[in-house]
This record gives sequence, structure tokens and C-alpha cells, in this order.
Amino acid sequence: MGLATDAIHAGQEPDPSNGAIITPLYATSTYVQTHQEGEPGEVRFDYSRTINPTRLALEANVAALEGAKHGRAFASGMAAIDTIVRMLSEGDHVICGSNVYGGTFRLFDKVLARQGLRFSFVDTADLGHVEAAWTPSTKMLYVETPTNPMMTLTDVEAAARLAHSKDALFVVDNTFMSPVLQRPLDLGADIVVHSTTKFLNGHSDSVGGLVVTRSAELDERIGFLQNSIGGVMSPWDAWLVLRSTKTLVVRMRAHDAAGRTLAAWLEDHPKVSKVHYPGLESHPQHELAKRQMSGFGSMISFEIGNSLDTTRRFLKELKLCSLAESLGGVETLISHPATMTHGSVPPEDRAKLGISDGLVRISVGLEDLEDLQEDLERALRLV
Ligand code: PLP
Repeated sequence: MGLATDAIHAGQEPDPSNGAIITPLYATSTYVQTHQEGEPGEVRFDYSRTINPTRLALEANVAALEGAKHGRAFASGMAAIDTIVRMLSEGDHVICGSNVYGGTFRLFDKVLARQGLRFSFVDTADLGHVEAAWTPSTKMLYVETPTNPMMTLTDVEAAARLAHSKDALFVVDNTFMSPVLQRPLDLGADIVVHSTTKFLNGHSDSVGGLVVTRSAELDERIGFLQNSIGGVMSPWDAWLVLRSTKTLVVRMRAHDAAGRTLAAWLEDHPKVSKVHYPGLESHPQHELAKRQMSGFGSMISFEIGNSLDTTRRFLKELKLCSLAESLGGVETLISHPATMTHGSVPPEDRAKLGISDGLVRISVGLEDLEDLQEDLERALRLV
């Protein structure tokens, strides 16, 4: 089946009792069992932390979209990431992209590192850095591509080859692209993780996470941890995300078209000194982007000088673009990495990452593009 068909149908059957076309919201904590322990017959549904029909439908749906066989849904993207890394044991080493989402860095560096896991954070755009950081205990390579907010890419196929040549797992956070624009499992990744809070849900009304894999063995280990730790997605959130993935393909195509147009418009704007967007020819990894992505998405960052005051005035002047963290919704959200997502990163480290006071990140929504341009144009006049 094609992606749009899978988005609408995968994991979902009309309700056998009444034909309802939408998977019901099974708001139940437990299930009445027809057999007792030891009697013949299988009890599949026993307790909702372990298994829930609404969650199962979403897990199968997203697994199909990513070209996976198995999916597991979590209460947040962070709960999903935490569960993946807990497959490892004390003393194991993880090589992680140096520019991953701040919450991922915090989980690894401030929580899991205290519990005996070891992490190296390197610029995975250059796999030479990954090789240099490799140790005999390295068990996992973890990347986000593109990164936030500098939109730097990792070559997924080459990174997968490198990890597998050393018997390590390769995990890709595909939150920024969604399976419509990038399918890391097809390029060799073992596990793909999502914050469903972003494009998969797309309507800014739910927080969640999802993990998919083609390996039954990995899925079993992740499922064991999902049930043991208990950070599962609620049936309500699973229902909301399932409602949303039906339109994922059309939304992502619209996001992608808007992103391309707005990035080119910003690049031509006299008040904008630099635009970071993999779809632009000026992006240093544009050729890699064309190879491993089927679109470039709607995450753009751009620079309007390097003055905090000017950037603040610009952000205050915007009416339609909302100042907010998060991304991937139908509403256009704009953020200031230096004071928001990366506010806790020391200024010298921010400078190394290229995050200046004049850098702004935009998640282009699905409003009329002319209205967005008008809003940005008015604010850019103040720069
Ligand atoms: N991964 C990426 C790329 C993110 O941007 C985020 C959140 O912004 C997360 C993971 C964490 O997801 P959540 O906020 O759903 O826990």
C-alpha cells in the first residue's frame, strides 16, 4: 500500500460489533477475562498498562508508516527515548549527536550518566568524530537528523554501516521529518523514535512518543521495558494521534511546500543574513538531503544579526507567528533558541554550535503563506 493509504487504514479495522469506521477510544484500565489462569485458551487483554486496543492501533499505524513491523507508544517523546536507552546495561557507552534536543541531552547527561551509562556527544555530521569517540563498550549510536536548530544532517546510511560494523545499535530520532519525508529504517537504522507531540499529532493537543523497529527481538526487549517502567501513552492520546496520522501525508506535503517557499523568500530578504534549511542549495549538505530525504520539511532557522534587543523587538512585533516552544503543529510557531530551547547551554557552547542571539527558529504551519510573509515582513522592518 502507498503511504497515504497506510496513514488512513493501517492498524485499523471497522469495529466488528457495529461497523464504526473509527477505532474506539478504549478508556479502560482492565478487561474481564473469560479464562482463569491454567485453563485452556489465551488471555490477550489483561491490563491497560500492558496492552490497550486504541494504543495497539496507533502502534501498528506508525509502524506501517515507517516501514517497520513493530511499534510501541509512550507518554512522551522523552519516555520513549528513556526506554530505548534502558536496553543498555551499566558501563555501556552511547555516542550521541552533540546537537540533539536539549531534553535528550539532559536525560543522558544528567540522569542516565549517574546510573552507570556513559555518553559521548559528538558532531555526527562528520562520522570521523564518531569513529574517534568509539570505545570497546560502545553499544549505541544515537542521532537526530536534521538537528535543532542548525539543521545539520547525519548521513543515515553511512552511520548505520559504521554502527553495524561494530555490532552496535543505531537509533534515529525522526521527529523533525516524519516518515513522509524520511524513512531511516529503509536506510539501515535499527530503531526510529518520535515525539508524536510534533508532526505526527500535528494539532498541538497531545504529548506522546513512539518507537518502531523491524526486529522482533528488539521489540520484545522494548515491550518488556515499556510494561516494566510504565511510561505508556494513554488511550486518549493514542486516539488523538491516530486521528492525526490520517492526514499526515497531506499535512507533511503542505508543510514541505510552505517550508521551501518561505526558506527561499527569507534567503532573498535583505534583513536576513543567513538561512539554515536543507532544501536550499546554500545548505552545505544539500546533496545529502536530496539523497536521504524525500522532502525538506518546514523547520527553518535564520539569522537577523546578532543583537538580543533587535531579535526581541522582531519577535514582539509578530502577530500570526506565535512565540512558543514545540513544533510541527498546524500553527506557525517561532522560537528564540538562545533564550528558550538552548537557554541553559553556556554562551560559549552556544557559540560553538552556531546559536547566536540573532538566530530564530520557525516551524512553518499551514496558514496562508501570504499572511505569514506579511507578518514576517512587518517585523523584519524593525531589524
Ligand atoms: N525529540 C525531539 C527532536 C524533540 O524536539 C523533542 C521535544 O521537543 C523530543 C524528542 C521530546 O519529546 P516530548 O516533548 O514529546 O517528550
